[in-house]
Amino acid sequence: MNENILISACLLGEPCRYDGRGKQNSRVVELLKGKNLIPVCPEVEGGLGIPRPAAEIQGKEVRRENGEAVTEQFHVGASICTKKALSAKVKEAVLKSRSPACGCGHVYDGSFSGSLTRGDGIFTQHLKSVGIQCISDEDFLAK
Ligand code: SF4
Repeated sequence: MNENILISACLLGEPCRYDGRGKQNSRVVELLKGKNLIPVCPEVEGGLGIPRPAAEIQGKEVRRENGEAVTEQFHVGASICTKKALSAKVKEAVLKSRSPACGCGHVYDGSFSGSLTRGDGIFTQHLKSVGIQCISDEDFLAK
């Protein structure tokens, strides 16, 4: 049976990003040919609409630029998508770099200035806590 790999839905071109667009990464998809891809968007699963204001991690919270906290929605969505991954016996996830949900290794630093800091998105934190191996699309291509 083909291996199940979890993937950020926007990397498959799903228009689920905050700006209402996808972020198709054809090279990643090509390299994953033959695997059974399971697309998820934890922000949408958490009840956040499309489009939606951008959000960034600030300490333990996730906030929009106007200060509104969306931390709970991020954790709810992460939890739903992590359950999906576990029921599909996923061991690996390829995730959209820098996102406050899916970022892996680096995320925006909370200043809404485009600056990065070390860390993982909320969804990535959930996935790692149950032992799923996570890699960003950029690191996956650099392998
Ligand atoms: Fe893509 Fe993840 Fe953001 Fe959804 S939450 S749009 S899957 S990066």
